[in-house]
Amino acid sequence: MPAKELVCNKCGCTFPISHIYSCRECGGILRVVYDNEKLNIDEGSGNNILSRYSDFLPIDTETLVSLGEGNTPLTQAPRLAKWLGIKELFIKNEGCNPTGSFKDRPISMGISKAKDFGFDTAVIASSGNAGASVGAYAAKAGLKSIVMVPEGTPLPKILQTLSYGAKIIIVKGNFSFCFDLAKKAAENLKWANLATTFLNPFTVEGNKTIAYEIIDGMGRRVPDVIALPLGAGPLLAGIWWGFKDFYKLGYIKKLPRIIGVQAQACAPIAKAFVESNRVQPWRKTYKTAASGIADSMDGYSAEGDLVIDIVKESRGFITTVTESEIKESVHALAQLEGIYAEPSGAVTTKAIQKMTTQGWIKSSDCVISVVTGNGLKDSIADDKQSQSIPTIESYDDLVSLINKPKYGINR
Ligand SMILES: *Cc1c(COP(=O)(O)O)cnc(C)c1O
Ligand SMILES: [Zn+2]
Repeated sequence: MPAKELVCNKCGCTFPISHIYSCRECGGILRVVYDNEKLNIDEGSGNNILSRYSDFLPIDTETLVSLGEGNTPLTQAPRLAKWLGIKELFIKNEGCNPTGSFKDRPISMGISKAKDFGFDTAVIASSGNAGASVGAYAAKAGLKSIVMVPEGTPLPKILQTLSYGAKIIIVKGNFSFCFDLAKKAAENLKWANLATTFLNPFTVEGNKTIAYEIIDGMGRRVPDVIALPLGAGPLLAGIWWGFKDFYKLGYIKKLPRIIGVQAQACAPIAKAFVESNRVQPWRKTYKTAASGIADSMDGYSAEGDLVIDIVKESRGFITTVTESEIKESVHALAQLEGIYAEPSGAVTTKAIQKMTTQGWIKSSDCVISVVTGNGLKDSIADDKQSQSIPTIESYDDLVSLINKPKYGINR
């Protein structure tokens, strides 16, 4: 573990590796710095993210709490590519992680560190996935966990979290309000705060492994575009920092453009990007099927400015999708590629199509879409579709059903 110290990305102050959350001088975001000037990628292939990338992570094998996160499929998606109007599309299917979302990468780091620092309780504010992940990794580590979710969090995510033995609390209010409560509780009650915003400097490090795996999976061929769902931004930032790590060391020769995608119903970072403004908290109430990326950024909007800086540096873009586009995205992924994603995890699909139509993505570009969560955690509610499922009671019923031209099975 060549992690050296923590450095403030605003004032440059450094701190020893310890459980401090933001810069004690200026309140800025802290990042882990490493002593890994020479590339020493472990050639061994084990079943956790440390087996190959330990020089770029703040954990060592003795302290890692792992459920076998990472190593997710990177699959070519030719049928979806055609539908989107591009030549080459790959899907990084993060729904295959142990708890069903990419959050296992940052939470594996965060829980490992919390245990190592001697905490006995972990707390997190979550829109559902990170909470489930904390429940699972805390159980594995033998820690207690407390998960606060906003009202309206999908039930499967809540039940999953409960199953791990976590104490789950539903909070009247949005994600930002939960975040505020968890932060106060962690400070006053001496709990580890597993926040997957930029508050905890260790969690974001886990997201870099998505970039490393893409680089290795593509045989060091760097895609032109990486598209990903955007909530508060650590996923986006982590992937970008991961590409930069390998770029600085000369392992890859170029960097991808990054597209971040938000739900139109709650899009504080996209709005600021398009208007060339600083990020403002999203004050409108919102309702979206993509609850996993609905973050109003209230109280930490400056972190959104960091995300915008990164996207600009990559010559990328931040865009939005509507509720009907989210639904279409879920169905296209499932019906053209057999990938069942939760709404939040699927949003890049229609966004790629729109950006291709607008000429921003060239049809010759190689695009990677990061699908962040499994559909089993949050099915898109489509009452009309499920009410139209036929019920039969005989073979004759079956024959008459499939003979109806409208049924769509051509005989
Ligand atoms: C948390 C989450 C995101 C967004 O991640 P950020 O790091 O907050 O931008 C995207 N998709 C899913 C399924 C998530 O759970
Ligand atoms: Zn500082």
